[in-house]
Amino acid sequence: MNRQKSFEQEVASLYLVPTPIGNLSEMTSRALETLNKVDVVACEDTRNTKKLLNAYNIQKPCISHHEHNQQVSIPQILEILEEGKSVAVVSDAGYPLVSDPGSQLVKACIEKEIPVISMSGANAAINALVASGLSAVHYLFYGFLDSKSSKRKKQLQELCEFPYTLIFYEAPHRIEDTLQDVLEVLGNRNICLARELTKLHEEYIRGSVSEVLEICSTLKGEMVLVVEGNSEEKEIDMEQAVKHVEEYVNQGLRTKEAINKVAKEIGCSKNELYNLVHQK
Ligand code: SAM
Repeated sequence: MNRQKSFEQEVASLYLVPTPIGNLSEMTSRALETLNKVDVVACEDTRNTKKLLNAYNIQKPCISHHEHNQQVSIPQILEILEEGKSVAVVSDAGYPLVSDPGSQLVKACIEKEIPVISMSGANAAINALVASGLSAVHYLFYGFLDSKSSKRKKQLQELCEFPYTLIFYEAPHRIEDTLQDVLEVLGNRNICLARELTKLHEEYIRGSVSEVLEICSTLKGEMVLVVEGNSEEKEIDMEQAVKHVEEYVNQGLRTKEAINKVAKEIGCSKNELYNLVHQK
């Protein structure tokens, strides 16, 4: 177990600092204070982060920390933290770790009991979700689907029954192929394609997959795809469920245990199954 009280004492910490996803005014004052306070900024791309820091007149040493140099950068960052200095982690846009580097570093810090502190800020998935018009009560953030259609379809297949809203990141040159696969695997569901969020050309395209497919070859910029969850009521074959109970009983389970097991497996009511089993 690891308990961390972020505000009880000032010790060298790893700060996860979200940066704007397009609109520079979405840098929070806490994020700026943190960047001003830390000793080092670990960045996905030092050139991009230097531009951001310059825009706010912040001068800090930047070190590179990305997917391909983690073997070297993580020990380097841990050493800085162990010297008692604080480090901020930023990605090119939005939250570090969210379809961006950072998870291995966070894990390594937690293992060494170095405080890891996050703060609120910009994230493309949440902006898209809340304006999509689709349910934001329960949702699944998937990130990027595979770039190959065969693997992508397999991934979509796994999500097919999922009743909650699905959120994907996608590149503009792949969106048409991805929507074709979504249509084939998930069906003609309601979707929202949220483009260029927080930027001048921000656009929300809400409609069915086939409607959006008609225009998507012309669309440019960064995009998030939000897809309605599966709304089909699954029909449960109760006769089959009773047979399963009998099979489990024949294998040695008690009737009550068998009923509980089958009800859990197929998602039906235990009481209904109990009544059917006992009325036979
Ligand atoms: N870490 C980021 C976050 O918290 O949202 C996401 C980084 S991921 C490498 C980049 C993807 O996020 C883009 O391909 C796009 O799908 C989505 N994205 C980022 N900024 C966006 C924006 N302004 N509008 C729409 N989608 C955006």
